[in-house]
This record gives sequence, C-alpha cells and structure tokens, in this order.
Amino acid sequence: MAIFILEDKCIGCKLCLKSCPFDAIEMVGKKAVITDKCVACGACLEACKFEAIIKEESGKEKKDLTQYKNVWVFAEQRQGKIMPVAIELLGEGRKLANEIGVKLCAVLLGNKVEGLAKELTQYGADTVYLAEHELLDKYTTDGYTKVISDMIEALKPEIVLMGATHIGRDLAPRVAARVDTGLTADCTKLEIDPEDKKLLQTRPAFGGNIMATIVCQNHRPQMSTVRPGVMDKAKKVENGAGEIVPFSVVLEKDHIRTEVLEIVKADKQQVALEEAEIIVAGGRGLGKAEGFALLKKLADKLGGVVGASRATVDAGWIDHDHQVGQTGKTVKPRIYIACGISGAIQHIAGMQSSDVIIAINKNPGAPIFQVADYGIVGDLYDVVPALVDALDRVDD
Ligand code: FAD
Repeated sequence: MAIFILEDKCIGCKLCLKSCPFDAIEMVGKKAVITDKCVACGACLEACKFEAIIKEESGKEKKDLTQYKNVWVFAEQRQGKIMPVAIELLGEGRKLANEIGVKLCAVLLGNKVEGLAKELTQYGADTVYLAEHELLDKYTTDGYTKVISDMIEALKPEIVLMGATHIGRDLAPRVAARVDTGLTADCTKLEIDPEDKKLLQTRPAFGGNIMATIVCQNHRPQMSTVRPGVMDKAKKVENGAGEIVPFSVVLEKDHIRTEVLEIVKADKQQVALEEAEIIVAGGRGLGKAEGFALLKKLADKLGGVVGASRATVDAGWIDHDHQVGQTGKTVKPRIYIACGISGAIQHIAGMQSSDVIIAINKNPGAPIFQVADYGIVGDLYDVVPALVDALDRVDD
C-alpha cells in the first residue's frame, strides 16, 4: 500500500498535516508531500476534504472509478423461480438508481431461465443481463462467482445488491474479493449521499447495540447484501419496457471444484415468517414451551404464524426457524403481536418495520412499548385467551 497526493486537487489547506500521527506529511510550496515516514495508515485520507489523497494497493492497477455506472441486483432464482428478496432489491435498487440518475439492471444466471428475464423487467429492471449455461443449472460457488465476477469486470456496475440468503451470503464475499472491492453484509438501510452520490450502507454493529453506516470510498462496485423482508417489494407492471442482454459465459467444468449430486430439501416444514401478514410472537414471558400452543391458537384464528424471541429458542421451547431478530429472521408483517417479549434491541431489529405492532406485557416499563402502536399491560395468559374468545364470537 502507498499513499499519494493528487497535486491538482491539493489546495494546501494543511488538514492532512494535523491528522498524520507520524508527522509524515510536509508542505513543499503550497502542496502537501508524503515523506518516507509514512506507514500508509490512511488517517490523512479521511482528513482531506478535497479527495486529494489516495491509497493505492501495490501491484494492483488503480481502477478508474468514474467508469462504474448503474445499479445491479442479483436476481437469485431457484428451480426457475425468482426469490422474493430479488423483487425487494429491485424496489430498493430503483430508488437508488433514480437518485444517482443511472439504470437499474438485474443479473440473472441459470440454465434455460430466459423466461424469468421478462418477469424482471416487469419489476422495473431497465436491463436484464442474462447469463445462461448448462453449468449454471444448479448453484455452485465457483461457477456463479466466476460468471458474476466476469460480468462485473466487463460491464462495471457502480452498485451491486444481493439478498442475504444462504446463496447470497456464500456468493457476495467471494465476488467482492475476486473483483477487489468491499462488501457490507446484512444492511438494513441503503441511501445515496446527496453530495457525492456514494452509497451509504447501514447495518447493526457491535452486537446490534449501534447502527454503523459504511461507505466504500476507493473501490468499485459498492457491494451490499440485504436480508429478505427488509425492503419493500417492487410493484409489478404488465408491460415492462426493459431490454434483455445476453452475456456470453466462459465457463468450463474445471472452473467448478464441486459437483452437486442432489438437492435434498429439509423435511421440517419451513416457517414462512418473512412472507406472513400476521405474526403472533412469544417471549420468555410465556414461562414454558407449552405457552406457544396458546399463541398458535391466536395465530390460527388470525390466519398468521408464530414467531419467537431468542430467549425462547435458547430455552429449547421452539425451533430457531421461528426466531425473529438480528440473529433470526427480519419480518415486515401487517400486524406483529409481541406477547411477553421485553423488546431488546436485537429483537426490535427484526420486527420494527411491521405495519402495526401490538405488545402484551406485564411490565408497563418494558421497552417493547416504545415501538408498539398499541400496548396492553397485563398477563398474556389473561389477554391472549380473551382475544381468542373475542375472535370466536366474531366467527359465530
Ligand atoms: P426477556 O427479556 O426476559 O423478556 C420477557 C418479558 O416478558 C419481560 O418484559 C416481562 O415483563 C414479560 N413477561 C413475563 N411474564 C409475563 C406474562 N405472564 N405476561 C406478559 N408479559 C410477561 N433476541 C431476539 O429476540 N432475537 C434475536 O435475533 C437476537 N439476537 C441476538 C444477538 C446478539 C448478538 C445478542 C447479544 C442477543 C440477541 N438476542 C436476540 C437476545 C436479546 O438481547 C434478548 O435477550 C432477548 O430478545 C430477550 O427475549 P425476551 O424478550 O423473550 O425475554
């Protein structure tokens, strides 16, 4: 690594001199100059308000960042079905692309998946880059990484978004390393800086106790993964006007070190929490595993599903599949009913975007009431049966 001053941008303000912990910058005439005391710590990069200081990685050709244009969404598909998170990312990508004034593009990989490309234009993609090859029939880390990296090198997107699914979490870091850029995983908010148009990527950090906003300053593309259920889905229009551009894939068997023999689906029934319109979630306040049967009764009445806090999962009362929160699922139902959940920040992180939050808790000071639209102070074993009874009467 080495630090360089761009003479034409340096205005001689001396901010970098003050920032350098090693006294490694001197003024020569009206320009800053890096001396051999420099250890390339990078402190001066942040201090310079004029982007006159750059850090170059030795041996690597410096990228011209201005060549990178457009917002890309990885359109993850499995067995010929586009994953819902890709539609959510198209919705978010559209906002970002409009703010920068560039195109929104979907990247679709697979074998005989051309039919899905049209669907992606209906969700707002201006361009769908279609990479088809028989070796892309089933997802492999090596195959997908090679093809997407080749596409990025050739077409130079400014921003690349992927879903934080099992595949996205496997693929995104590989691709980021291959194309020599950074990656912010598990973002909960994406915005464009109105001044320099860079992507502001916000995610929970330090065990969820703070939200960190991360900027990819010197590398492109800017890459983020976003958990399913966090962003609003793009609206479908019948006549999507986007173009479909085939990408010529260079992929051979030798590029892929694994062979997928069979895909065996987990035999337990997956809980479709991310898709649910109504969630009745239980916390430690339930007191015992059997308490979830009561919540299931209420959820069934409302046509919803059962969610849970981590405390109950850790206690072995319910499967992790039901867990909502930072280390569980991120949900966005129309109604979220939190029963006996205190409202720890890690739980809130996974459900705060619900349209309506109803909290039932014995403790009027429980933090859950700060995010709740409706709060019921009381014992859940009184309140929930009363709700079920009331719904029974409505049914009658
Ligand atoms: P408690 O905090 O014990 O709250 C129980 C609540 O029930 C209390 O408010 C009490 O007043 C109320 N109560 C008791 N009895 C009754 C009753 N009969 N009727 C009504 N109310 C009653 N947590 C998550 O949920 N999801 C995550 O993904 C998650 N990830 C985490 C990641 C990290 C790195 C860390 C450090 C923690 C994480 N946690 C997560 C744990 C989180 O910090 C809390 O410990 C957890 O959410 C607490 O669960 P709870 O609200 O069920 O239990």
